[in-house]
Order: sequence, then C-alpha cells, then structure tokens
Amino acid sequence: MNLHEYQARALLKAAGIPVPDGEVAETPEDAERIAGRIGGRVVVKAQVHAGGRGKAGGVKLANDPADARVKAGQIIGMTIKGLRVNKVLVAPAADIASESYLGVIVDRSTQRPVVMVSPAGGVDIEEVAAKTPEKIFRIAVDPRYGLLPHQAMALAFKLYRGVEQARQAATIMRQLYDVFWSAGASLVEINPLITTKDGNVVALDAKLVVDDNELERRPAIAALRDSSAEAPAEVKARDAGLSYVKLDGQVGCCVNGAGLAMGTMDLVKYYGGEPANFLDIGGSSNPQKVVTALQIITADPNVKAILFNIFGGITRCDDVANGIVTATKQLKLNRPIVIRLTGTNEDLAMKILKDAGFSALTDMDEAVKRAVELAKEAA
Ligand code: GDP
Ligand code: MN
Repeated sequence: MNLHEYQARALLKAAGIPVPDGEVAETPEDAERIAGRIGGRVVVKAQVHAGGRGKAGGVKLANDPADARVKAGQIIGMTIKGLRVNKVLVAPAADIASESYLGVIVDRSTQRPVVMVSPAGGVDIEEVAAKTPEKIFRIAVDPRYGLLPHQAMALAFKLYRGVEQARQAATIMRQLYDVFWSAGASLVEINPLITTKDGNVVALDAKLVVDDNELERRPAIAALRDSSAEAPAEVKARDAGLSYVKLDGQVGCCVNGAGLAMGTMDLVKYYGGEPANFLDIGGSSNPQKVVTALQIITADPNVKAILFNIFGGITRCDDVANGIVTATKQLKLNRPIVIRLTGTNEDLAMKILKDAGFSALTDMDEAVKRAVELAKEAA
C-alpha cells in the first residue's frame, strides 16, 4: 500500500525528523487560504501515488497566496503516470543548499533491511544507480539490533563533510529506520534530504510503501489507505479478494493460484505473447469471483484475448465454468476466450461449458498458444 507524501511526512515528523509544516488542499481556494496562514513563499505539491512529480509539473513554487491558488489550479486535476491529482500539499518553501538521498528498503539478496544514501539526491535514484552507481552507499542492518549509531555515522559522512550536518543526518537515519520498522514498510525514502542555507538538515519529500501483509496488525496505518487515489481495477480486485496487477500486454489472464498465474505469464511470453495482467482468483470456489475477474479483465482496452487457466484442486472446475457462463451472460464479451480446465470436477465443467456453447482444453501449452495466436489476429 502506498501512502501519500503528506501522510508519510506526518509519520516522519512523529518520529522526530525535521519536516516543514504543511496542509492539504482539495481546491485552489483552500490552497490560497493555507498559503496565507503560512506566509511567504510556499511550495504546492501534487499528492498522488507516483514519483517524478517534479518533472511532470506537479511541484511548483508560489510567491504569495494568490500565486498559490493559480499553481494549485494547474496541479489539481492533472494526470501523473495515469493517476488523477485530487489534492495538493501546501508547505513553506525551503531554501535548498544541497540535495541528497536517503532510503531504507527490504533487500532480497542480503535478506535484510538496507539503508541507502547518496549525495546525488533530488533526481530519480534509479538514474543514479544506472549512471553513477559509485555515488550510492549502503549498509545492511541486522534486524535484531536496528541501525546502530556508528553505522549511521559512517553513512552520514558519505553525505556531508561537516560533523554538525553528519550528526543531524545520522539521527534522521535512525529515526527513519524506526519509521520503516514500525510501519511495516517495504520502502521508505527521503528524496531530497536537503541542507538549508543556515546549515540544517531537513526532509523535503517522503515516500512510504507499506507491505500489505503488515496491515492487519497495524489498523492505524491501514486506515491511511486512500482508495480514491488507487487504480480503480486494483481497488475492485482487492474488494473481491482477487490479486490483480495490471501489465501492458494483450493476453488477459485469469488463473487460480499465484504460482500457476506466474507460470501462465511465463508461457504466454514463451509463445511470443505479452500478458495483460497477473490475476489470481484464489483457491476458493466462488462463481462471483470469476464474474468480477472477467469484468476487470474486459475493462482493459488492451486485452485482445482472454485466457482461463484453471487447475482444479480445492477450486472446483464446475464452479469456474458456472462463473464463466454467468459472466458472459452479464457482460458483452466481444473478445475471444480460451479456456483450459483440468482437475476436480473437470468432466462436469466440460459439460457446462459445452452446453453454453464454449469449447475448453485440458492442455496448458495448447491453450496458451491458442490465446497468443488469437490476440495477435485481433491486434
Ligand atoms: P518528486 O519529484 O515527486 O520526487 O517530488 P519532490 O518533493 O522530491 O520535489 C521535486 C523537486 O522539487 C525537489 O527535488 C526540489 O528540487 C524541488 N522542491 C521541492 N520542494 C521545494 C522547496 O520547498 N523549495 C525549493 N526551492 N525546491 C523544492
Ligand atoms: Mn522526491
């Protein structure tokens, strides 16, 4: 789950990290009022679940309240990486002397949280990693002890020569690590971490991604979810208990089980196609889930063919077959559909499908090949 910048800033602030005050506005008039209360120059920032807002024109400085209203009017309603901006954060503008990067991620290779810093902050860290990897410094943290003071200090000296600023940065790193740990985050970033003209180290941006599996035991964090800022298909899938990730291909995949879903996507690519999505309808037997799955898949205009790949273990093939029949009665399926079913109640499922005018396969290779061909013909 992604948090908005203003939500992440509040968590950072509660942990003691210096962050400029700010307030959220949903209209240009609100932005003007907030800017009036703050006084002086402000920064108006799009609150969307996307990085690179600065480059996209979603972060603008304003000289006075009237200017803040104009800037907020330009930002509210704009689309950044496919997401509409509904809110802006209005905060006092900082005077930047230098920009660096600070982040904590879960690292698969070390199987630990890793604290990363770079004196090349402000721009995408992916770009720094690709072009100048020598400018990124890392320390893997033993989760039993957390980030130790000497580790934080060693990283801080990669950012600043002066001991005063290094001390401030080291404190911020340890506070950020605490936020990462207590929020159940998979990633937390401050980019840019700035020095001001008077020598203070301040967080100007905050990004926090919470591991969905950590939400159940953190109701206060879970309550920060803003479904209105998420992709509609993903909200719909989550509400229905489906795992769905949209991709850019043409073959819509509807599969039971995450492993089989991954295998199906691999096979689609193997036969020269591109999957339009990852979708796991889960192990339960519930025709309604199939209906919702088909609604989500067919709402994606890139989908040229639909592929069902069901291995009936706990899932009963006849339930999926009923779901397909029900869904195709409700929805206008104006795209070809390939069905592969095998396992529990396979014979019954084949009969249900046949009676409704569908044909089905039992071989996975054959079904995937067919779906890839049909998607290519329709493209
Ligand atoms: P992002 O592009 O989505 O990461 O948004 P950021 O919050 O990081 O803002 C992008 C850039 O805008 C920063 O790297 C800064 O250079 C600039 N910026 C953001 N806030 C301020 C501010 O208060 N004052 C000044 N002068 N620049 C700012
Ligand atoms: Mn940033």
